[in-house]
Amino acid sequence: MSTITNHMPTEELQALDAAHHMHPFTCNGELAQKGARVITRADGVTLTDSEGNQILDAMAGLWCVNIGYGRDELADVAARQMRELPYYNTFFQTTHRPAIELAQKIAELAPGDLNNVFFAGSGSEANDTNLRMVRHYWALKGKPSKSIVISRKNAYHGSTVASGSLGGMTGMHEQGGMPIPDIHHINQPNWWAEGGDTSPEAFGLAKAQELEKAILELGEDRVAAFIAEPIQGAGGVIVAPESYWPEVQRICDKYEILLIADEVICGFGRTGEWFGSQTVNIRPDIMTIAKGLSSGYAPIGGSIVSDEVASVIATGEFNHGYTYSGHPVAAAVALENLRILEEEDVIGHVQNVAAPYLKEQWEGLQDHPLVGEAKIVGMMGSIALTPNKETRAVFAADTGTVGYICRERCFANNLVMRHVGDRMIISPPLVIKPEEIDLLIACARTSLDECYAQLKEDGLLQSA
Ligand SMILES: *Cc1c(COP(=O)(O)O)cnc(C)c1O
Repeated sequence: MSTITNHMPTEELQALDAAHHMHPFTCNGELAQKGARVITRADGVTLTDSEGNQILDAMAGLWCVNIGYGRDELADVAARQMRELPYYNTFFQTTHRPAIELAQKIAELAPGDLNNVFFAGSGSEANDTNLRMVRHYWALKGKPSKSIVISRKNAYHGSTVASGSLGGMTGMHEQGGMPIPDIHHINQPNWWAEGGDTSPEAFGLAKAQELEKAILELGEDRVAAFIAEPIQGAGGVIVAPESYWPEVQRICDKYEILLIADEVICGFGRTGEWFGSQTVNIRPDIMTIAKGLSSGYAPIGGSIVSDEVASVIATGEFNHGYTYSGHPVAAAVALENLRILEEEDVIGHVQNVAAPYLKEQWEGLQDHPLVGEAKIVGMMGSIALTPNKETRAVFAADTGTVGYICRERCFANNLVMRHVGDRMIISPPLVIKPEEIDLLIACARTSLDECYAQLKEDGLLQSA
């Protein structure tokens, strides 16, 4: 019997948490001093913590709760599936109804000839699959030297050894011996931070052409694939200039490089289409999916694979898989989530109601003295904090100092908005209503004002 309940005093829960729980992407020593925020329940777009605070979750958890919290249908489906068949694997020539049905549904939703699904338990695992699959694909085609995957600096593709290596986060590469060999990183199309005096369009084209340069330098016979998020999420919601993606697609086609679109955040409505690849108009050979696939209600991810790649892989045994590949409960929950997205026309709500209104309101923040660019595509947005918008200056203080102060003000105002360095980011549930967007923007504005006042007081408004 559990002796720990939500009714215990917050400090007791925090002390128990600090005693035994190692948090991801956290300085656990510091958190133990401060005490973790304890979330007790959630409904719609709103979290409740152990102190009874109602918090607007403008991050949809970790970019995943697309349909919002508190949907009983998913709980019912999970309970039913657990009673009927809680687990069986999909190895050794077996299958079950939820895996069959989910693969079929995903193939129906995915564009082009992306008709084949390899299931995983998470986005990280799916990218591990992708790395092995593209190398194995080229080996089966008689070109085993094509093993290098090109990725981008500041990309996020997960936290396992392979996916963390594919990612371009230097803070991750510094720990635990990453990246592994044969992963090559080129620059990201982050015009605000790195564009200097060039126009966004010229900059976007130049960054795409870095892919061509890398292929020519490494050798066409060495490169297996290029992997990228249609819109970089954890890197700070970096939206490429419009010139970028057409050029990337041209280069992948010209040199026969497989294109892997990491749709873990962008997929399932986040950008206003079913997939971010449709928003930026690319034709990937493989898509990575997770997060919004189940709206976070159950852990599940996967790779959606083109007919061409799948048919080559199908010629032999692919020695790869996870105990929970196509887990029946997770698959059933994902199916119910997709049913809701489709039948309630959640993507129509994004296109016609939520995204246009959020865009107008979000871009309105640009008049704030701290806000440089305000970017938003569908339901993922970012603002660059700056001491001087005209020069796109960065703060003299260490990167992230100001972002952290702003994030703390947001928390104090019961708004979950994250910071990546000195960029603030949002990715709210897709079902957010206009009046909830008003609340989001009002809290964001108050927090920006308070942050600005504090920066003035602490002398942190200087440019580097
Ligand atoms: C979150 C994320 C991942 C990793 O997914 P996990 O389920 O955390 O392993 C991979 N790619 C992108 C783009 C992500 O945002």
